[in-house]
Amino acid sequence: MSDEAYTNDFDDVSDPNPQGDTELAIEGALRPQSLSEFVGQRKVRGQLQLLLDAAHMQGRAPDHILLSGPPGLGKTTLAMIVAHESGRALRLSSGPAIQHAGDLAALLSSLTPGEVLFIDEVHRMARSAEEMLYLAMEDFRIDIMVGKGAGATSVALELSPFTLVGATTRSGLLPNPLRDRFGFTAHLEFYDPSELERVVERSASMLGIEIPGEGRAEIARRSRGTPRIANRLLRRVRDYMLVHDTGGTPEAVHAALELYDVDAIGLDRLDRAVLDALIHRFRGGPVGLNTLAVTVGEEPETIESVVEPYLVRIGFMGRTPRGRIATALAYDHLGVVSPDHAAKLHDL
Ligand code: ADP
Repeated sequence: MSDEAYTNDFDDVSDPNPQGDTELAIEGALRPQSLSEFVGQRKVRGQLQLLLDAAHMQGRAPDHILLSGPPGLGKTTLAMIVAHESGRALRLSSGPAIQHAGDLAALLSSLTPGEVLFIDEVHRMARSAEEMLYLAMEDFRIDIMVGKGAGATSVALELSPFTLVGATTRSGLLPNPLRDRFGFTAHLEFYDPSELERVVERSASMLGIEIPGEGRAEIARRSRGTPRIANRLLRRVRDYMLVHDTGGTPEAVHAALELYDVDAIGLDRLDRAVLDALIHRFRGGPVGLNTLAVTVGEEPETIESVVEPYLVRIGFMGRTPRGRIATALAYDHLGVVSPDHAAKLHDL
């Protein structure tokens, strides 16, 4: 396993448009440091607060935590907050970096007592590591195989107590025995426009720029329910304001975001490509996920974990046992007459 997986920086691994070190540093600087700064997700915040307070009063490490939900909704941020609020060190890793049980053994045995271990994309860990993790989470112990063949023996290794914070965009892919070992699981929901406005307001003030209410609302509307996108769009608006020497008016916001192919309700190029394929190539569906993914030149996992949740949430796409379908709202958005509507017109 590479040393990179152990770094404690704010690397934004799931940002599909990384803009270089400075942008990542800004993204990191905008992260809330405490639950009180964390916007929205009221229920999850309350539950986490209780979990942390109880652990603090009993002087023990908080229970293991599983956070699920689409990218950019605050899973990594919450893991950092758990470490920060409980005054514990944080170690960052990710499922794809743990491809052998040995990778996990090295990681776990190097944790300091009480450390918070964050594993992003925990569903992508190797199977053998997953099994090792069961025992580690439950008994803070791992069994290591020494030797090969008939002479192989297993040696138990005691670990320091730790808190695992696992994050996943695909909680359905987690095996039940792993899911059951988390003392607390939470699903993060997309944010409302009013919550995203607060994210934009907070980030704008941290970046030292002023965006009036209407401009903030326009950014929030186009952020796909996702704080990471809100912050990214805000940075593009900031660039536009700087280059064109203008204030953060809705017109400036509109002009800046048009440049980046973000439409009026926040759909980006890939969202529109998926809807376009569904409607034009597959006559509204149903169509299978893999076929849809191949048609737009993307991985099925990206369609399933990034594109689809939001399109389903805003009622543009439906999931049926036979595949994905486009709804009447999607036809309207693309300015295409839906087959149902066409049939009604025909009957008139
Ligand atoms: P995930 O791990 O779910 O992909 P992150 O925790 O990396 O998402 O969040 C992405 C960015 O969005 C962070 O840099 C943070 O600044 C911002 N962010 C996420 N959730 C919130 C929130 N609830 N309030 C304010 N900012 C947030």
